[in-house]
Amino acid sequence: MSLSRTIGVLGAGTMGNGIAHVCARAGFNVLLCDVSQPALDRGLATIRTNLSREVAKARLTQPEATAAEARITSTTSIEALVSCSFAIEAATERFEIKAQLFRDLDRILPAEAILASNTSSISITRLAAVTQRPTQVIGMHFFNPVPVMKLVEIIRGLQTSQATFETVKALAEQLSKIPVEVNDAAGFISNRVLMPLINEAIYAVQEGVATPEAIDTIFREGMAHPMGPLTLADFIGLDVCLDIMRVLADGLGNPKYNPCPLLVRMVDAGWLGRKSGQGFYPYPSA
Ligand code: NAD
Repeated sequence: MSLSRTIGVLGAGTMGNGIAHVCARAGFNVLLCDVSQPALDRGLATIRTNLSREVAKARLTQPEATAAEARITSTTSIEALVSCSFAIEAATERFEIKAQLFRDLDRILPAEAILASNTSSISITRLAAVTQRPTQVIGMHFFNPVPVMKLVEIIRGLQTSQATFETVKALAEQLSKIPVEVNDAAGFISNRVLMPLINEAIYAVQEGVATPEAIDTIFREGMAHPMGPLTLADFIGLDVCLDIMRVLADGLGNPKYNPCPLLVRMVDAGWLGRKSGQGFYPYPSA
């Protein structure tokens, strides 16, 4: 299937504005939809700042950045997505919110349109099941910051068709991303492998085996990770890490995925990492 040039993006937050950015940069018209006008205003301002940064780094010319920005229109009404041939949902990570959005998208968009979700953990098969077009529902899991990170995990739900998969893979390539195919299971691959590593590093801190600095240095200097697991956990948000561990524990039913008690205590204390000013490290300016 060839795509019309308009992609609907639901949610203008951290991920949604990045997805709108890369779609517009690749030449697509984008309709960016959020329930909150302030969120849309912030999202559009972030896109402008990030496009300017790309101009400053000579990755884009000023006319290209101006043209990309002009291809993005914003709306608080999902009904405006009526002529989109593709939607990428990047709204808040709650099943009920996403399920309602998928019901609405299914009702509003043309019958041939593909509906993708950027969810980090929610089952694509379950989201597909609330629509009348489960073969055209798929996961498209981008990474933060979207304009920089190349990877897109493409997640097939149980009923996702081969044609849908091929279209989405081609779209990811048009966005200059590297698509990797994954089947629908809790945490997909990225979080299923990364989060237990972070969780185990937290166990090592809890048991006094080493300090956070020592653990991070081992991964940076011994394994060529750009940042150690505890610095990364602070960057992702300790509450997000905890939520994902719980999804893994529930979805995979194996006690090895139980969250480390120290992680639970830190989240209870409001130590959420970089965004709260304190995680495994202090962030005085947050
Ligand atoms: P965010 O909180 O920054 O943004 C979510 C946005 O969705 C908000 O602006 C909110 O107003 C909007 N929203 C809520 N309900 C809506 C609705 N019904 N219609 C339209 N917009 C609605 O969240 P985020 O970090 O951008 O995460 C979005 C999605 O991307 C989640 O599913 C998350 O799991 C996933 N994800 C996040 C990251 C990350 O690093 N932040 C990475 C990969 C995937």
